[in-house]
Amino acid sequence: MNQNIPIMVMTPETKCGYCTNSKCCTYITQKIDGPRSHDDFDHLLWQVSHHGVSVYKDSDGWYLLFETRCDHLATGGRCGIYETRPQICRDYSNDYCEFDEPAERHFKLLFNDYESLRQYREQRFRRGTRAAGSRRTKRPRRTRRSP
Ligand code: SF4
Ligand code: SF4
Repeated sequence: MNQNIPIMVMTPETKCGYCTNSKCCTYITQKIDGPRSHDDFDHLLWQVSHHGVSVYKDSDGWYLLFETRCDHLATGGRCGIYETRPQICRDYSNDYCEFDEPAERHFKLLFNDYESLRQYREQRFRRGTRAAGSRRTKRPRRTRRSP
């Protein structure tokens, strides 16, 4: 039996090399106001109808989640623009990241399709937790063309 098997120690410098899918470079998020009115939900329903777009709520509030791989993610999980990468990438620590635990574990709500969000909206308004239609959205809306 070989007694000299080297023990690999994972350090902050080597950790990303063990991360096969480079999860932190394959999505973006955008904070949004929590939906309150029918108009708000209607807008979100349109957004989650698009492939790779989800909406979630965690302890910090509501977010849009776009599953989209960064153009600069190179083979082997390297950053193709490492020296000039955006500040948000520089600030991201691998100290306790998605390699250790999926972010979804901390989501209070997650909707990744039209139907799940529609059902949630029905429940919300059945319970009457908010004044339906009481707030106008300031977000840009899709405009319909006249027939
Ligand atoms: S920071 Fe975490 S999720 Fe991102 S590549 Fe490194 S180990 Fe993977
Ligand atoms: S710029 Fe580099 S570090 Fe930032 S998301 Fe893209 S591949 Fe990842």
